[in-house]
Amino acid sequence: MAALLEFEAVSAAYNGAIAALNGVSLRVEEGDFAALLGANGAGKTTLLKAASNLLPAERGRITAGHIRFEGRDVTESSPGAHIRAGLVPVLEGRRLFKSLSIEENLVTGAVGRGFGRRGVAEGLELVYDLFPRLKQRRRSVAGLTSGGEQQMAAIGRGLMAKPRLFVLDEPSMGLAPLVVAEIFAALERLNRETGLTLLVAEQNSAVALRHARHATVIENGRSTLSGPAQELAARPEIRDSYLGGHAA
Ligand code: ATP
Repeated sequence: MAALLEFEAVSAAYNGAIAALNGVSLRVEEGDFAALLGANGAGKTTLLKAASNLLPAERGRITAGHIRFEGRDVTESSPGAHIRAGLVPVLEGRRLFKSLSIEENLVTGAVGRGFGRRGVAEGLELVYDLFPRLKQRRRSVAGLTSGGEQQMAAIGRGLMAKPRLFVLDEPSMGLAPLVVAEIFAALERLNRETGLTLLVAEQNSAVALRHARHATVIENGRSTLSGPAQELAARPEIRDSYLGGHAA
C-alpha cells in the first residue's frame, strides 16, 4: 500500500516557542482507517492542522521534518488547495452555519469543488444513506438541532467535498455514548464500503480502537506506539493508560 499521508520526524511549535510536536512519524496508507490517540494536549489537533497547512493561521509552524500528502510537501499548498486536492478536514467545534438548514450546510461542502447539480445530488444521497437522521432533519435550522445531528452534519459537509483523505478531530466531543457509537459505525462503514481513507484523532480510545484498522498513540508531541488497532487494544500499557484497565 502507498502512503497517502506521511509525517517524517515532524516537530512543530506555536509562536516560535511552545513545542507541540517533537519528532512525530506517522504513515496513513491508502484505504486505511487510522486513529490518533492521546490525552488532552498531547498534540493531536496540532498534527491534524499541520497536515492541512493550517498552523501558520495560528502563528504555528513546522520546525523540523516533512509532511507529505500524495508525495508532495503539504507546506507548499494552501489549506483551500488541499481541500480541492481531496485532503478534507473536519475540525473540532463543528462550525456549522447555525442559521442555515442542515441541507444548506451540506451543500456548502460541495461549493468550491466545482461540482454540478449531479455531484451535489450524489453527495447528498451518500450522506443521507450514512446518516438517515439528517435526511429527516434536512429542513431544520442547524443551530436548533442536537449536538449529535450537528456533528453528523459537519461530517456530511466534509463528505460533500468528496475527500481522498478525510481527517476528523475528536468526532465524539461532547456527545452521548450511543451517538458516538453511531458516528464511528458510520465511519467504519464508509471506510469498508467506499474505501475512503480516514485519519481520526480521538480521546475516546475504546471506541476508536473498536472501529479503526490502525492506531498511533501521541504523548507530549511524540508518537510512542503504533500498530493494528486490535493489537494495541490488547496491550497492557494501552489498557492501563487509555482504556481504564479494560479491554476495548
Ligand atoms: P485536545 O484534545 O485538547 O485538542 P490535543 O492532543 O489535540 O489536545 P493540541 O491542541 O495539539 O493537543 O495541543 C498541543 C500543545 O500545543 C498544547 O500544549 C497546547 O497548549 C499547545 N497549543 C495548541 N494550540 C495552540 C495555539 N494556537 N497557540 C499556542 N499553543 C497552542
